[in-house]
Amino acid sequence: MSVDEPMYLAFRTGLSLPEVARQLGAAVTVQDYENEYEWVVADVDGVAINVSRLHTVPPVDTDTAIYLDRDPRAPLPVTLRDTLAARLTRLGITPLYAGSWEYEPGAELPHKVRTLTGSDFRVPALATTDLTGWTVRESASRGKHLLLRLARGDRRFTLHSHLRMDGAWRTYRRGVRWTGGPAHLIRVALHTAETTAVGYHLHELALVPTDREDTLVGHLGPDLLGPDWDATEAVRRLAARPDLAIAEALLDQRNLAGIGNLYKCEVLYLRGISPWRTVSTVDYLPAVVDLAHRLLSANVGRWTQSTTGSLHKGQTTYVYGRRDQPCRHCGTPIRRAEQGERVTYWCPTCQPGPG
Ligand SMILES: [Zn+2]
Repeated sequence: MSVDEPMYLAFRTGLSLPEVARQLGAAVTVQDYENEYEWVVADVDGVAINVSRLHTVPPVDTDTAIYLDRDPRAPLPVTLRDTLAARLTRLGITPLYAGSWEYEPGAELPHKVRTLTGSDFRVPALATTDLTGWTVRESASRGKHLLLRLARGDRRFTLHSHLRMDGAWRTYRRGVRWTGGPAHLIRVALHTAETTAVGYHLHELALVPTDREDTLVGHLGPDLLGPDWDATEAVRRLAARPDLAIAEALLDQRNLAGIGNLYKCEVLYLRGISPWRTVSTVDYLPAVVDLAHRLLSANVGRWTQSTTGSLHKGQTTYVYGRRDQPCRHCGTPIRRAEQGERVTYWCPTCQPGPG
């Protein structure tokens, strides 16, 4: 699959997600994913596709943009994409564009040693920066922080960007149309002789001397998906604040980088730990950290995040997003409550203790 192959359709509509799917002639299961995005999985002509709406500023306006896509490992076939586009048109909905998602932070960056033949920054602070002649040494990630390390002679600089929920880097062969989103969301384009890396809706774009990278990301704990993942250090950082609730400690990226709310809930369920227990009362932190590492690693590159091993609709999690549904182990209704800034799901039977 080439990197510029279209993998989703985006369009605007006032219809709800289930209504869109129904109008496309698809069977649906609704999945509630809090405030980050919602989706339904629809079966179109025997092919499962995601119909999703991101609340956090996707490449087009938030509350009206809907995407049709598939797991990136099984991209939307062009024929199905055309079928869906035709059906949308019949409904009076014009697809805005087809694009390709970037799921693995940094995977599309020019990671081999290559010399930049040009750069085009579209943020005021870097508008006059010219990286022509600089060589890309490597790209690294810390959670969703991306670090593109550059060299020219003895000089070493790092281009930092943060993806949040909506940013993306895409790579295109020279001369190929950029399909990652509207031009006004482009923050930078880096050219090499063969390819162009385009950064869409990047946050915190900054260029700093490489030996000062720590001023940007030094506060982050070991990256669960990084090549230098350090479980011992993650455990040490967690244990350093023993009175914190374990659920909040796992979300604190200064302890370990990469656990979102879904994994927080799922890891604690799988280890039988009440989210409100303090770190000091958790029997074996290394096992918690190890499980988080394995779950995240298993889902690298997937659109559908699964902790159960199943990618089937409605079966991807044990507790997350399953309020009032029976626990898959004991049948007790799954509970949902505010905890700190976030929402926690848990089974009061399988995860005894405060709650
Ligand atoms: Zn249970």
